[in-house]
Amino acid sequence: MVLKQINLTNFRNYSALTLDFDKRQTVLIGNNAAGKSNLLESIYLLSTTKSLRVERDEELIKDGEEFSRVEGFIDGETELLVVINHPTDEVIFRKKVLINGIGKKVYDFIGNLPAVIFYPQDINMITGSPALRRWHLDLSLAQIDQEYKKALTLYGDYLTSRNKVLKRIREGQGKVDELDYWTNGLVEKGKIVSGKRKEFFEFINQLSTPLGEFKFEYFQSEVSVEKLQEINGRELASAQTLIGPHRDDFSIILEGRSMATHGSRGEQRTATLAFKLAQLEYMAIKLGKRPILLLDDVFSELDASHRAHVVDIVGKQQTIIATVELENIPQEFLDLARILKVENGKIIP
Ligand code: ATP
Ligand code: MG
Repeated sequence: MVLKQINLTNFRNYSALTLDFDKRQTVLIGNNAAGKSNLLESIYLLSTTKSLRVERDEELIKDGEEFSRVEGFIDGETELLVVINHPTDEVIFRKKVLINGIGKKVYDFIGNLPAVIFYPQDINMITGSPALRRWHLDLSLAQIDQEYKKALTLYGDYLTSRNKVLKRIREGQGKVDELDYWTNGLVEKGKIVSGKRKEFFEFINQLSTPLGEFKFEYFQSEVSVEKLQEINGRELASAQTLIGPHRDDFSIILEGRSMATHGSRGEQRTATLAFKLAQLEYMAIKLGKRPILLLDDVFSELDASHRAHVVDIVGKQQTIIATVELENIPQEFLDLARILKVENGKIIP
């Protein structure tokens, strides 16, 4: 699976861009603020309909413009299109996703251009909140597994409703048996979600990780009807569902040390990359084809031995690397790659 062409209209600092990916390997070179990360982000938007860098989709629209359009052609000439609008009275949609011109539900759109992205700031994943770690986890699992995607969405719906009922009961407006329906749904969908997360962690823990002996420890917040019954009093007091996949977490361990609390900056960065590359391998196994790999400024802080290992991987699938200086990129990759200069929202020939 290859992304052959991308067309941007009013996306971030791009007014209009058409770019053909003639080679499987691409290097984007340019100064700070040229638009390198934005270009990688636009590709990831086609993969997931999400950006890892913004809270609201509208932030992706070029300043002063009304809408943003990202179109990609993948092999077999399938056209993927994401359109983002500023919400106004006339505009009834904020984000529209289409395949070959036909509007799709987000969950049918995701997964057509599987990709893994690594940004330097993803290191936040290690030290940040469990929600951020789950987000990084979910974005890759959702791309490869329709059942996961649906179970996760429904789980979220049950969770919201169940919390509302808990609150009503606490306020004396509802009865405890009103919870049963939501509890059963929550447990059913929660088991699907945590089962698939568990399978993912089991797989990546038996991979040999060339970047170091990283282990990924999954802390499952196990949910069952019995467990929920046991904590019913506490749940009613707090009006919160206290266990389940929305409380899952994981940590990355190197030689017995948690990277969150004991990792050096370089180790945390390598750990993040190791996690992303493990996701790539899992997705490749599950899909039977390799996702696109998008690497933003990956080499600048890696030492020589780690660079060499990353080079082994970047040759295996379509890979797009952004960098400020070509010196940061190993020669073996440069030999394979097409080098594109990015300048002020344009590609300079
Ligand atoms: P660096 O090497 O510093 O990482 P970069 O080439 O990756 O630089 P980008 O993150 O792609 O730079 O950003 C390029 C420019 O796009 C920045 O000047 C940024 O402020 C600008 N930009 C971001 N969002 C928008 C937007 N919605 N409208 C217009 N410009 C934007
Ligand atoms: Mg950048």
